[in-house]
Amino acid sequence: MKKLYLNKGKEESLRRFHPWVFSGAVHHIEGQPEEGELVQVFTSTGDFIAVGHWQIGSIAVRVLSFEDEPIDHQFWVRKLATAYDVRKAIGLDGRADNNTFRLVHGEGDNLPGLVIDLYGQTAVMQAHSVGMHVCRMEIAKALKEVLGDALQNIYYKSETTLPFKADLGQENGFLLGSTPDNVAIENGLKFHIDWLKGQKTGFFVDQRDNRSLVEHYAKGRNVLNMFCYTGGFSVYALRGGALSVHSVDSSQKAVDLATANVKLNFPDDQRHKAFAEDAFKFLESMADSYDLVILDPPAFAKHRDAVRHAIKGYTKLNARAMEKMPKGSLLFTFSCSQAISKDQFRMAVFTAAAMAGRNVRILHQLHQPADHPVNIYHPEGEYLKGLVLYVD
Ligand code: SAH
Repeated sequence: MKKLYLNKGKEESLRRFHPWVFSGAVHHIEGQPEEGELVQVFTSTGDFIAVGHWQIGSIAVRVLSFEDEPIDHQFWVRKLATAYDVRKAIGLDGRADNNTFRLVHGEGDNLPGLVIDLYGQTAVMQAHSVGMHVCRMEIAKALKEVLGDALQNIYYKSETTLPFKADLGQENGFLLGSTPDNVAIENGLKFHIDWLKGQKTGFFVDQRDNRSLVEHYAKGRNVLNMFCYTGGFSVYALRGGALSVHSVDSSQKAVDLATANVKLNFPDDQRHKAFAEDAFKFLESMADSYDLVILDPPAFAKHRDAVRHAIKGYTKLNARAMEKMPKGSLLFTFSCSQAISKDQFRMAVFTAAAMAGRNVRILHQLHQPADHPVNIYHPEGEYLKGLVLYVD
């Protein structure tokens, strides 16, 4: 294994188990590793500190272990089994009414660069680092060993998550089995999962708990689900007894998916309508009758440089919605931008409330669910933030 030496003093964050080595911390590497290759990391004085995947970019190494151990079949089995134990501990395994959850959440499961979502007997695996891409077959093998008969298919979906420049020839496809059956169950509701072409692994598994809260409050309300994608919030709101549910997304494909998912659960329900329209345009001319609004936009800031612009975007979006909401409405508003902190998001919503001149109370502060754990040494992993507001 090639050896990477850090600049003097640059081991501090690794001593506190932060799982990344930034390129600026690297003094030199003995030999030139290939992208995705395993390297051993040493301090400037030659002490071993970690082993991980090397990659070109601002994050030079993603740490797999702080121990000098082989990264072999047993390693992958152990890590995946630990991740599975966590999901068992939080009651997500073996439920008849819910077969959809995240099994591996990157750094949160000490596997930086790897995401695995489970949809019944199918796992959708996504590599966000070249190293995980290189290891995909080993990981697939270990995953099958850990899950046994519960796992019949593994779909690998990394076409859009890997650095283009790496030129890895990555293709989406099944690494194990294959199935046309794409219906998953979340809290007793059914969803078509488009793992072939959909965003992320085909579904936003991270909103499960927050969707339940929408269901809890939906009774008797006129719901607007803005940025609906597969219609997750809409289906929950319908089950919760909403008077009407309108789903909006700029993508016609998303609108079709939302419509199909509503049909799958409530075949002849007339309460739902879906619109393919830009959010800001819709808000400009929308009726003032929506008294439960969900705003779950895509990440406005994909990296640090975009933060200021993104904050403005969140402010404008929330202000537009609040302006039109009747007294006594509920607003569920989210940000999934990792680069925006909880405080920055709250400040953006605060500004929006002031701009709209509304009296607003915070009822709930929401976040990602327990199957998207945050590694305490890697607070950057806390990405999903939400507020439930009572708008008077
Ligand atoms: N709430 C969804 C996830 C939303 S993902 C869920 O629970 O599954 C973000 C969605 O916003 C995508 O489907 C994307 O098509 C849509 N989108 C992006 N920009 C938009 C815009 N300007 N107006 C409306 N929808 C937009």
